[in-house]
Amino acid sequence: MEKFPPLPPSFVRSIVQGDIHRGLQPSALRTRFPPEPGGHLHIGHAKAAIMSFSLAREFGGKFFLRFDDTNPEREYGEFVESIKEDIRWLGLQWDALYFASDYFGQLYDYALDLIDKNLAFVDDSPPGEITRQRGGLVEGGENSPYRERTIEENRRLFLAMRDGHFGEGSRCLRAKIDMTAPNVNMRDPVLYRIRHQSHHRTGDKWCLYPTYDFTHPLSDSIEGITHSLCTLEFENHRPLYDWLCRSLGIHHPRQIEFARLNLDYTLMSKRHIQSTIDRGLVAGWDDPRLPTLKGLRRRGYGPRGIRDFCFAVGVTKKETVISLPTLEHHIRRDLDVHCERRFVVLRPLKVVIVNWVGSERRTIEVPNHPKDSFPGQRPLAMGPEIYIERDDFQVDPPKKYFRLKPGGSVRLKYAYILEYVGHEESEDGHITEIQCRYLADSLGGITPRGVKRPKGIISWVDSSTALPLEARLYEHLFEAGDDTSNINPRSLEICQALGEESLAQARPGDQFQFERQGYFCVDEDSRPEKMIVNRTVSLKDTWAKG
Ligand code: ATP
Ligand code: MG
Repeated sequence: MEKFPPLPPSFVRSIVQGDIHRGLQPSALRTRFPPEPGGHLHIGHAKAAIMSFSLAREFGGKFFLRFDDTNPEREYGEFVESIKEDIRWLGLQWDALYFASDYFGQLYDYALDLIDKNLAFVDDSPPGEITRQRGGLVEGGENSPYRERTIEENRRLFLAMRDGHFGEGSRCLRAKIDMTAPNVNMRDPVLYRIRHQSHHRTGDKWCLYPTYDFTHPLSDSIEGITHSLCTLEFENHRPLYDWLCRSLGIHHPRQIEFARLNLDYTLMSKRHIQSTIDRGLVAGWDDPRLPTLKGLRRRGYGPRGIRDFCFAVGVTKKETVISLPTLEHHIRRDLDVHCERRFVVLRPLKVVIVNWVGSERRTIEVPNHPKDSFPGQRPLAMGPEIYIERDDFQVDPPKKYFRLKPGGSVRLKYAYILEYVGHEESEDGHITEIQCRYLADSLGGITPRGVKRPKGIISWVDSSTALPLEARLYEHLFEAGDDTSNINPRSLEICQALGEESLAQARPGDQFQFERQGYFCVDEDSRPEKMIVNRTVSLKDTWAKG
């Protein structure tokens, strides 16, 4: 297997290197990726996972996949397998797989420990009252009337909470920190809530569940994580993270926050993606217009391209929005190296070659890839009738139009020069057919003596052997990245295209460059009788220019 490259230099890598310099054994390095399995992963998650994985790999440490599945209200089942599949697809291997719910017993003991240290108390205040007590950014908080309970009473009540003696919301466990702390997260945060709900893994064993703020640092600690990478919104949770590890006197991982990946025109959160699906704006989690890994994969984005992109945008502390052309650049660069070339005409226009003798076809050998080192050639059939791209002919073209026009000529890529003879239009002004002459001695890039060398080279497909295919062309889903009200009307365009004969052998997942059209992959719904291809990315960043 290809070696996973190291994370490019960044402040995160410097921190890790500094810790190694100060004595951390490189092999003791532990990182993790902790998704909540309430949805499928998107490319932002991929960035987080890739960072943690590549750090561990580079230094010979370990990388864990941990499902943060503490919320009993959420349905997790279907997403666990899907997330594992996506992580594998990215080329990441976890050294161990954990579920935060596996730690419920240990977390409960930690909570008792805090009670015994007089650092946690059972609060009978209703949830609304607790919110009020915590105050706001300007005004400080106020102590709960239950804050001074004795350790014995807190212990007794907490055990009774576990044993199901109280109703939901009637009591909770709170840390005893400081209600005047400027950071609201430090104002006696809730650690445990009563929920009479079954959990997807622990069933009915528990009726009280730890909060995220309690579970997350302690799960990191239990697993011996050394560097806990997360996004910036957790920066003001770090004091609580540190307080818990210190108060319990347990292994204390270092939390490092970095800026989320944001993409232009793209809403990157499970909740938004789910609502886009629920509103019927896309077909499902794997719609190729979504930033989910399932969607990007179906569109033809490869794990290498995604990784290169994540590495190129780098790790920073500053929130930025990355443009789609930046992402597409890396996807295209990866595909260029690996994809064979094929001929497809997306919007076909018939061309009759009037001086073709007989109906017999000829075969032209064409390279599968323009780089010599890439193996292979394939035969391309050509007969008296071909198709070209509708755009490649204009009756009244602008200046500098180098494709086919009345009185003009053009080269068919790898084949002959065509000279315009005539064309036909339907009553409503649609061009239905062009007639051309071909120059028999112009094959192989030769311009015969006395002939003007055509400036334009166009792609084409032989008519009698052409394979019909449905080509799906994509653009960004929304008109703007932060506004889901306006769908881009061009986000999906379906073309009834024609492709060269050899495409009949292509299987779902296969990828090609269709000459001049972009990179395409065969869709998983493609059938021999109805081939479907998705455009992964065009050849150049054309849409950005309007
Ligand atoms: P979302 O809000 O998109 O659903 P999340 O943060 O709720 O994301 P989690 O499953 O909790 O999703 O995330 C797992 C890890 O992925 C977290 O460490 C989180 O910080 C990271 N992560 C999530 N979104 C991004 C992003 N856009 N860029 C980088 N990392 C991200
Ligand atoms: Mg989250």
